[in-house]
Amino acid sequence: MYQQKIAITINSDFDKEKLSAEFVILISELSRSGQIMGGESSYFTENEIICYPNTLEMDSLDTKYNNKWVDLRIKNLEDWCNAELRTEFVGEHIPLSNDVCKCNTHDSYVLFTTFLKENSPVICGSCGSPVPVYRINELTDKDQYDIQSWEGDYISCDNLNMGCSVGEKWAIKQMSDATSQLSKSGLKVCSRIAEITEVPVYYYLFNYRRISIVKDKLRRCPTCNGKWLLQERWLGLYDFKCDKCKLVSSLSSRS
Ligand SMILES: [Zn+2]
Ligand SMILES: [Zn+2]
Repeated sequence: MYQQKIAITINSDFDKEKLSAEFVILISELSRSGQIMGGESSYFTENEIICYPNTLEMDSLDTKYNNKWVDLRIKNLEDWCNAELRTEFVGEHIPLSNDVCKCNTHDSYVLFTTFLKENSPVICGSCGSPVPVYRINELTDKDQYDIQSWEGDYISCDNLNMGCSVGEKWAIKQMSDATSQLSKSGLKVCSRIAEITEVPVYYYLFNYRRISIVKDKLRRCPTCNGKWLLQERWLGLYDFKCDKCKLVSSLSSRS
């Protein structure tokens, strides 16, 4: 993970509230395109607006990854401030970790995230590392929006699950049941990515059941009832995989 600085100098009398609102929208658009990890605060100094976002790659803020909304917000800010938006590489996070997918081609993808939201929700099925959303060229702005929207809902459910007090059971069902509203929206995102990349995309079903490991291993694919237990764990995380329904899951850590 890398730390970057995004800043613009204000060389005009333009309304500061409008400028700050536009800057905040730019930051959220960059988060949607996967170019920054999101959640960062922005600051006003005497004559500058600044943000220090985290990125998955050193060049995540390269303009070649911008979608049209990012470009529009930058153009507005530059016109209104009478200055150019600057991006600057600050440094690499400690401990150093650079586990972004470097594969040229992908056998498959997995849609996966957790409450920690430490990375891209699209995992490479060839190497198991995250693929920054902006690297999947075929995705439209709407697709990026749908991915971010599913990711936000999943993280909200996982937070309820981790909180263990309000809505825990409901949240676990949303994450484990292939027919839940959350899973339906995730599976729709998977189908869309598969359609445009022509690569199979698997959807992860959370598994936290109070059952024995023997019973857990006997579980069948919840959609087609076929056998889906793998001989060997896939990508170090998935014990179950149904190629027909494009579903993956793990053995319960609770058993
Ligand atoms: Zn890869
Ligand atoms: Zn199946």
